[in-house]
Amino acid sequence: MISEKMYLILLWIEFGSSVLVFFLLFFISAPYGRFNRKGWGPVIQSRAAWIIMELPAVLMILLAFLFSEPFPGAMALLFLVLWETHYVYRTFIYPLRLRGGQKPFPLLLVVMACLFNIINGTINGYEIFFKNAPSGLYAKWLTDPRFILGVLLFFCGLFIHIRTDARLRELRNNNGNAYQIPRGGWFTWISCPNYLGEIIEWLGWALLTWSWAGLAFALFTISNLGPRALSHHRWYQEHFPDYPPRRRALVPFVL
Ligand code: NDP
Repeated sequence: MISEKMYLILLWIEFGSSVLVFFLLFFISAPYGRFNRKGWGPVIQSRAAWIIMELPAVLMILLAFLFSEPFPGAMALLFLVLWETHYVYRTFIYPLRLRGGQKPFPLLLVVMACLFNIINGTINGYEIFFKNAPSGLYAKWLTDPRFILGVLLFFCGLFIHIRTDARLRELRNNNGNAYQIPRGGWFTWISCPNYLGEIIEWLGWALLTWSWAGLAFALFTISNLGPRALSHHRWYQEHFPDYPPRRRALVPFVL
């Protein structure tokens, strides 16, 4: 698939980008959704953008699995199923059910996200199907507390993520294109439970795969979605004078 040297280079690129993105996003909010604005070059419709930019994540890990030799085993198949559960949702189900899928989305962000997903899918695929596969770790791994806790976190995160995505969609179903204050469930405590769900999911993935690539991805997700959650929270407070004062941005009672 790729050499060990290339894997290390890509891994460090991902760790490095996490740090860069974290600091950049405190000063510049990524220009899509409510922060969409002119001056970021050509745009495409957001529904198409989501499908195009997430597709490499579906494909890269699938290719890594298919090209691994010898067959990396049932455990590897389980990793593949977990990853694809998230990414089939994100790449196909989420965009197809999106309200306001015609909104403009900068092509530049699509290209950057594609690149990220190619790198991320490659290093995760390499590490779980090539680098760690022959280690004999797999059979014992099913009962390892890191694996069990990781799977629990992954599914809790996925559940929160999908439920709260749906709740945001309902706001649009009931109120046209305007933004509303989301209420109920996790929104009682925080402004961005969909982001929190995604972060929990990839922390779970890092634990259940016990891999550097998984850790890099979890860190990148925190760096990307953490500052954006703070921007969303501020945006709600500026636009809705009656925004619930005790609600936090991302972590109930804390942040
Ligand atoms: P948002 O929460 O900004 O928006 C999700 C959808 O809900 C959009 O269609 C948005 O419309 C709509 N929406 C949001 N808030 C309201 C509101 N108050 N009233 C009405 N409609 C609302 O999420 P993102 O678009 O940033 O991301 C989508 C998903 O992708 C998230 O679940 C996120 O976790 C995931 N993601 C993951 C990343 C990662 O690094 N792993 C990076 C980026 C996203 P509109 O578009 O018009 O604002």
